[in-house]
Amino acid sequence: MVNNMKKSLNVKYAIYVKEYERSYKIKDYIIQRLGKDNIDYDNPKYVFSIGGDGTYLKALHNYIYSDNIQDIVFININTGNLGFYSNLDEEDIDNLMDNIIDHQEYVYHDLIEFRINDEDKARYCMNEICLYSFPEAVKLDCYVDGNLFESFCGSGLVVSSPTGSTGLNKSLNGAIIDERLKTLQITEVAGIKNKFYKTLGVSTVLDSKRVIDLIISPESSVKISYDNIDFHSGSEENFEIKKINVRYSDIKIKNLKYKHKDFFERVKKSFLEK
Ligand code: NAP
Ligand code: MN
Repeated sequence: MVNNMKKSLNVKYAIYVKEYERSYKIKDYIIQRLGKDNIDYDNPKYVFSIGGDGTYLKALHNYIYSDNIQDIVFININTGNLGFYSNLDEEDIDNLMDNIIDHQEYVYHDLIEFRINDEDKARYCMNEICLYSFPEAVKLDCYVDGNLFESFCGSGLVVSSPTGSTGLNKSLNGAIIDERLKTLQITEVAGIKNKFYKTLGVSTVLDSKRVIDLIISPESSVKISYDNIDFHSGSEENFEIKKINVRYSDIKIKNLKYKHKDFFERVKKSFLEK
């Protein structure tokens, strides 16, 4: 119930929802509490995502190139999806609204930075960047810190962050990385192992200071996706991808720390409990 006597807040905010009835109800409630006039999709202090991880990633990508991205506080409310990134359930919202202004504790998620074809512009993702090629396999050389590490031939490679390690990377049998570690992980998608091609066949975890260059062989073509974004669909940048440079970003995404569950508790809840 809305209580008008409760502390009124004067903060700019934006709300992104998964299209569920429950998500819309929560959205309405937040608007009642924070005021319609404070909705500001261009320059919010708080960004609510109501849904699951996909909703959070979509919300994040709306602001990932904002100058003040590191000042925005993301608040993720889970309404029934996996919600690995969610820090709140529906029943916590009333309490949160009472305390939001005084609440100054955050958890930070790091980003991956990547550049295509030596462009100046840095691009960012949170879970992973995925190179793929179907039905023809891609041949590429993978350099670590400028040194050739492996020549790969297969259907793709994924470079994931620690928080992304439980996403696509995990489905490819990559390792789950404790989010307290700062690493990049390279995981193969169907690496070809025969008398002509040799790949490690296991994922490789690298220190965050390493720089990865993936140089696509001239006879191959490759597509990329990152988080839930398909680089090629609706993109005006439809150039051929020949090189991808990947590194760990020093940009930190601020998430409200509220009833925060430890990483391994979330892994257990998401993957082991029925
Ligand atoms: P989606 O197709 O709904 O995602 C597939 C599942 O991955 C959903 O259950 C999603 O949770 C969950 N997920 C997303 N990020 C995660 C993370 N960091 N740790 C654990 N689980 C995670 O697509 P989406 O919701 O837009 O999310 C995009 C991400 O999904 C991609 O970045 C990729 O990591 C992952 N993905 C995985 C596969 C696969 O495993 N085969 C295929 C496509 C995409 P919610 O239900 O809460 O959304
Ligand atoms: Mn999803």
